[in-house]
Amino acid sequence: MKMLSTRGLAPPVTAGEAMAAGMAPDGGLYMPDLLPRLRPEDFAGMASLPAIAERLLRPFFDGDPLLAQLPAICRGAFGVAPPLRGFGAAGDYLLELFHGPTAAFKDYGAGFLAACLAGRPRQEKPLTILVATSGDTGAAVAAAFHQRPGFRVAILYPQGRVSPRQAHQLGCFDGNVRAFKVSGSFDDCQRMVKVALGDATLKQQVPLSSANSISLGRLLPQMAYYAQASLAHWRQHRRPLSFVVPTGNLGNALACLLAKRIGLPVAHIVLASNANQVLSEFFAGGEYRPRPGIPTLANAMDVGSPNNFERLAWLYPDEAELRRVLRAESVSDREIEQTVCDIHARLGETLCPHTATAARLLQRLRGRGEQGDWCVVATAHPAKFPEVVEPWVGRPVPLPDALAQMLARPSHAEPLAADETALGERLRAW
Ligand SMILES: *Cc1c(COP(=O)(O)O)cnc(C)c1O
Repeated sequence: MKMLSTRGLAPPVTAGEAMAAGMAPDGGLYMPDLLPRLRPEDFAGMASLPAIAERLLRPFFDGDPLLAQLPAICRGAFGVAPPLRGFGAAGDYLLELFHGPTAAFKDYGAGFLAACLAGRPRQEKPLTILVATSGDTGAAVAAAFHQRPGFRVAILYPQGRVSPRQAHQLGCFDGNVRAFKVSGSFDDCQRMVKVALGDATLKQQVPLSSANSISLGRLLPQMAYYAQASLAHWRQHRRPLSFVVPTGNLGNALACLLAKRIGLPVAHIVLASNANQVLSEFFAGGEYRPRPGIPTLANAMDVGSPNNFERLAWLYPDEAELRRVLRAESVSDREIEQTVCDIHARLGETLCPHTATAARLLQRLRGRGEQGDWCVVATAHPAKFPEVVEPWVGRPVPLPDALAQMLARPSHAEPLAADETALGERLRAW
């Protein structure tokens, strides 16, 4: 299968090549030239996440040398099974994607991308993965590449603008991972990464790549847990499952949509945004108006210009059709707080602020009489956000083991000016 640029001005490449490149040379994002069609029967006898992932992803690697390694890559990247379970009322479910090493769904995409890049022919110099992060991405990427020979990771985060626990997590990797606390904003970090990746001279001296959410190597694997959850539900109930997905850059939700288009038993998909309203306005019939993100309690979704929108628009050139296949609604900080408190009081469970946006939206849908089986996608463990959720539920949230081990390690970050020349110097001296 070939991967095409959404801008149409770059030569087609294979999946492995698209992953190594990150972005297409014409500035577009890579998309499969056509989607395979699979039926639930094509997954007969497969129940585990690695087995389903391998069957689902195989057509995408057709023609790429990574195809031979796909079974091993899937075993490595999908070793953590995401529980799908009942959630309160009959017909309501929760899919927990936060049982990986850094307790957020991004572990799946980052782990798969790292395994794929590691499966490509080794270069003479190490490949440095640059990642700008506002919180969760940096840790997931660092954990995925930590101690992999031939790779180094440079994390850039805005000093003082990630939570104390997130900062500790970003700085607790040693060896081939370095954390830089940048005296600037997340936008500064992103700009520095972009400039470095566009600097041909620097890249010749220090081979560079990135692992941000537009990478095809993070998008494709995220389809796998939707496939597994919808198949498990289908086998048990003979009914399709609908999903409410907490959304920022649209990577996780787009993966759900691709799984549905491929033929998995997914009924409806609804996007839950925080107070950033770019998607809710568009899907309500307004214009698509990207803008700077505003800070909210669900900070990993503080996106005003979702970078995967370009893929959606490529998939559905007709806006009216796009509005028929997806819906989106916005949830305020106040509603996030109410939802976490209400669910804790009623069910004794603590949700993270991101997951709470989706839980709230499902409450709204049910309130309007929406029928069928619906699944809230739980994107992070609440213990990642103790400053936010613990005062609401009035008790400490126990740490999952992986997170506790990480937080027990010493943490160190190097100060860095918000300046691309300074970053270039550090990378050359590494
Ligand atoms: C990244 C993230 C999101 C948003 O996912 P997108 O793929 O960017 O839409 C939601 N919740 C959590 C916890 C995240 O880390």
